[in-house]
Amino acid sequence: MAKKKVGSAGRFGARYGGPIKHKLSKIEAKQKKKYTCPKCLKDKIKRVSAGIWQCKNCNVKFAGKAYAFDE
Ligand SMILES: [Zn+2]
Repeated sequence: MAKKKVGSAGRFGARYGGPIKHKLSKIEAKQKKKYTCPKCLKDKIKRVSAGIWQCKNCNVKFAGKAYAFDE
């Protein structure tokens, strides 16, 4: 097919899966990663909810990015 067909559905064709999957696996890796608490310097930072991170050692809560603490 020489003619490029760019319709509203064409943009979300077969190529939709790849990059999204890749992005998700990157996000998951960041959520599982342990982050160092700026206060007690222990790797106890865990994501409580989107943008909220808490140190399991000193219980201090931090506002961070939704999926990663140190970006
Ligand atoms: Zn701490």
